Amino acid sequence: MEVILADNLGFCYGVKRAIQLAEDSAAPGQVTNTLGPIIHNPQMVAKLAENGVGTVDSLDEVKEGTIIIRSHGVGPDVYDRVEAMGLNMVDATCPHVRKAQSSAKMLADEGYQVVIIGEKRHPEVKSIIEWAGDGAVAIETEEEADSLPKYGKLGVVAQTTFSAPKFKLIVERLLDKSSDMKILRTICTATDQRQSAAMKLATEVDLMIVIGGKNSANTTRLAQLCSDKCKTYHIETAEELRDDWFDKIKKIGITAGASTPDWIIKEVYKKCQKK
Ligand code: SF4
Repeated sequence: MEVILADNLGFCYGVKRAIQLAEDSAAPGQVTNTLGPIIHNPQMVAKLAENGVGTVDSLDEVKEGTIIIRSHGVGPDVYDRVEAMGLNMVDATCPHVRKAQSSAKMLADEGYQVVIIGEKRHPEVKSIIEWAGDGAVAIETEEEADSLPKYGKLGVVAQTTFSAPKFKLIVERLLDKSSDMKILRTICTATDQRQSAAMKLATEVDLMIVIGGKNSANTTRLAQLCSDKCKTYHIETAEELRDDWFDKIKKIGITAGASTPDWIIKEVYKKCQKK
């Protein structure tokens, strides 16, 4: 079977950095936890746990040791609380997310009404809202943009992983909401690159396998985009591949979300080659 990997797939810079920081933080006999799963990939989270890096959902569960802030980032209150609790902190916030957070704060400090274009329930967007302060709002559709009132000064930032074309469409709908508008396009290129490579490959193969956490927004999006072009399956591990998917298939394309470890991609690649 011919199996082709997308030109861009798997761990992005921010995730690689976060995993490295987490691995480096593990020390025998010491308590080390990430605040929330380090990435949206259950297999990687389990592997870190085996090496002594656990996961807590809240600082209330922590009494001592090291707390790792994941690449999605957190609001300023968490930094204050970690300091007050006397915990050791390892900040693995992706620098691109940090830029979106500081851009939102800067706009708010300059008196702009901050609008974040992104998924409201995503931890990164929540953290950006917290840096921007109480009045900030998050929107993710053109309809939500239409429903906003007019503002004296309007500042816009993006969730780093938001779709670039959709960001543009929503911004266009915001243009008549203020005569003083500042747009900071805080979108990270890793997402664009993975999406473009996946869509290109999906037009060249009979079947796409998209690998990554079922709870990973960027992997789910990759699967949606590929399914517009060809038959597509979203899996987390090689064990999920089923023989009947490959009937009459000559070429398989593989892509993976930004939080999918290399070892899982390799396993899936090898198994597909044997089909
Ligand atoms: S997708 Fe971009 S912003 Fe998000 S962690 Fe990766 S490099 Fe950072």
